[in-house]
Amino acid sequence: MASQVVTKIELSSLPKLASGKVRDLYEIDDKTLLFLTTDRISAFDVIMANGVPWKGAILTQLTAHWFGVLAERIPGLKTHFLTLAPPAGLSPAETELVRGRSMQVRKLRVFPIEAIVRGYITGSAWSEYQKSGTVHGLPQPAGLQRCSPFPEAIYTPSTKAELGQHDENITPAQAAEIVGERYASRIEALALQVYNAGAAYARERGIIIADTKFEFGLDEETDDIVLIDEVLTPDSSRFWPADEYEVGRDQDSFDKQFLRNWLMKEGLKYKEGVAMPPDVAEATSVRYKDAFKRLAGKTLDEALAELD
Ligand code: ATP
Ligand code: MG
Repeated sequence: MASQVVTKIELSSLPKLASGKVRDLYEIDDKTLLFLTTDRISAFDVIMANGVPWKGAILTQLTAHWFGVLAERIPGLKTHFLTLAPPAGLSPAETELVRGRSMQVRKLRVFPIEAIVRGYITGSAWSEYQKSGTVHGLPQPAGLQRCSPFPEAIYTPSTKAELGQHDENITPAQAAEIVGERYASRIEALALQVYNAGAAYARERGIIIADTKFEFGLDEETDDIVLIDEVLTPDSSRFWPADEYEVGRDQDSFDKQFLRNWLMKEGLKYKEGVAMPPDVAEATSVRYKDAFKRLAGKTLDEALAELD
């Protein structure tokens, strides 16, 4: 298959429901969505004008791999995953366009919070801790250094902002007001359970998952809380190479660091509409593929060959 970089997908066979920073959602029927991941990439919350080769397929195949791993390690876990097969009814050209990047999922009511879990202190959590000794308003032990592990992973939700807005860090109590007491503690417990299982799996494969963001939906028929969206990918998480990890300094992230460094060097941080030079896009692609191979134990090509 040619490595066609796809930053925009327009299917005429199905109605489009929504378009996020990275994904396009189409409706297959009133219970089923076609969840399509493009090759778009954002850095510092801005979407680049061009894409990263294979990124949509990598995120899709990695998420599917995680659903399998997590189902084995967490008995009773419910996910939105149905199949990697493209739906019947697409034209041959559309089927080729979505190949590898498409997942059919159950359409659910999305809880409007980001269920963030942090195993290590970095980013906005580190900034807050330096000022107040708290993270998302929760008091933390004294003496943590930059990128220290927390004694135990912590649940630090945020609001789920509309496109173009920034998510706001909130306390678990504020999250409970948003999703309702009835669901809040179950969401928290599930998020921690999935993070701990995923982080242990990744650590055995040389990757530290410093923190991550999950989304959950509600199955209104059974009242089950369901793990949705992408899971434990380099887009939704901070992945650090374990062999380079050192407490007390910033860590290079596995994947986007190359792009971020280039944007800063060129003075393009936060600028809209920037196109990456081909070597930056390619180097980023190589890093995403490497993370996939470490976690899935097979190459992306092997995963894609299994689809046929
Ligand atoms: P980002 O994740 O980069 O902040 P985003 O959240 O705007 O961007 P995308 O990841 O591009 O969006 O698109 C995925 C969208 O699909 C999200 O809004 C997510 O809440 C929604 N979603 C995920 N799974 C389901 C599901 N099973 N049912 C309904 N909506 C879903
Ligand atoms: Mg998303």
